[in-house]
This record gives sequence, structure tokens and C-alpha cells, in this order.
Amino acid sequence: MVRDAALRAQYLQTLGIEQWQLRRVAPAIPPAQRPAMPTAQPPVAAPSPKPTPPAPATSGAWQELAAEVHGCVRCGLHATRTQTVFGVGNLSAELLVVGEAPGADEDRQGEPFVGRAGQLLNSMLRAMRAPRDTVYIANLLKCRPPSNRDPAPGEVASCQPYLQRQIELLRPRLMLAVGRIAAQNLLATDTPISKLRGVVHRYGTAGTPLIVTYHPAYLLRSPTEKRKSWVDLRLVCGELARLRALPRNS
Ligand code: SF4
Repeated sequence: MVRDAALRAQYLQTLGIEQWQLRRVAPAIPPAQRPAMPTAQPPVAAPSPKPTPPAPATSGAWQELAAEVHGCVRCGLHATRTQTVFGVGNLSAELLVVGEAPGADEDRQGEPFVGRAGQLLNSMLRAMRAPRDTVYIANLLKCRPPSNRDPAPGEVASCQPYLQRQIELLRPRLMLAVGRIAAQNLLATDTPISKLRGVVHRYGTAGTPLIVTYHPAYLLRSPTEKRKSWVDLRLVCGELARLRALPRNS
């Protein structure tokens, strides 16, 4: 409970959500019965997993895939992109974060989830004790749709094999789909995101556990939904803890 409270406090503080606390008036305790002050703070949370170097057995395959994406002209988005946005992170990551598509900042910098939404995602990851350099982050689409419009079905169909290959190489314990577009396409459904949250889904033939939450850009526009995202992140933490007790990908 102490760990939950600490993580919640950190996340809500980062989001600028005021925390309400129940005021209690403690009954007076005679001096002789007062407990001694603790000399050490209780543990707040398990330490963050240390980033590990890329898995040598697959680094060549990653490079080949990145090169393929770099030169891809499978759909019309290649004509308007500044550059492809392949993905970034730890190639031994347990958690794969999947977003929708690059925005203007990502298209310019070549990395997913930068800018304000990226900073909020980083805060969300830190609150889960899974900082950005310990996870892998990718998008459904590797090129920016003009004016940040929703991806067309044909564009998703053209690009999704690249994400599929990334998942096969990474073999994450858990996937976190952020936003409606990513969630609905990964789960092949048109169910509203509000009804996809709060459940551990299964993705692909490997049955990789998948949890859905709101996109950080949406949370920036809709601050009242921020508390719900914390519920989702707690689900991620609990599921990861459960999965760590099992062999990888079981
Ligand atoms: S969005 Fe995907 S399929 Fe389309 S050009 Fe870019 S990399 Fe290729």
C-alpha cells in the first residue's frame, strides 16, 4: 500500500492533480506511551530495472528491419514524411508501448513520443518504475499522416507488418496500447476505448497480454481523464509483477 501511495503521489503530482487527503485528529497519547520515531524510511518501491544492452542475437535483425522501414514506400505517407519513425528503446524490454503514428515533433526528430505528449508518457512510465530507457516504444504507423489525421485503413494494413515484426523480435511480456487508434487496430475492434480499458486482452498468435489506456495527447486535452489513466497504469504494474513470476512469454 505504501508503494501504491508513493507511485500515485508521484504521478498525480506530475500531472498537476491536487490530492485530497482525509484530515484526522489524532487522539492525544501520553508521552510515556508514544512510539519511538523510526530511524529509517520504509521502502517506497522496488528499484527500477536497469537498462540492459540490446540482445546480440537479434540486433542484426533489428537493423535490417529498421533499414527496410527507412526506405519503405508501401503507402502514400512516404511522400509527405520528413523521415520514418521506427521506434526506440531497450531491445530486451518487458513492456512494449504502442502508439498511433508520428506527429509533427516525431516526424521532425525521428523518434516516437517526443514533445509534450512524450514528456507526459515519460512521467507515466516513471510512475510505473519503468523509465523510458527500460521499455520499447513504437507506433502503429512509421510515417506521419498529414495534419495528424487518423490513419486510413489501407495505411494501417501496409504498415502493421513492421510492428508485428518488432513484436516478434522483442517478445515483450506485456503491451500497452495508448490511444483509441492503436487499441482498436491491435485488437481488431471498433469498441470504444472506454470499454477496452481495465481488462487484460491478448494480442496475436502468441497471446501477448495487452492493456489499453488513453493517449497522453488526449490526457493533455482532457485533464479530467488523468485519474483513469492512473488506474490503467496500476493494472500494468500488477500484471507485469504477475508475469515476472512466469517464464518469458508463457
Ligand atoms: S506508413 Fe508504414 S507502410 Fe506507409 S510508407 Fe511509412 S513505413 Fe511504409
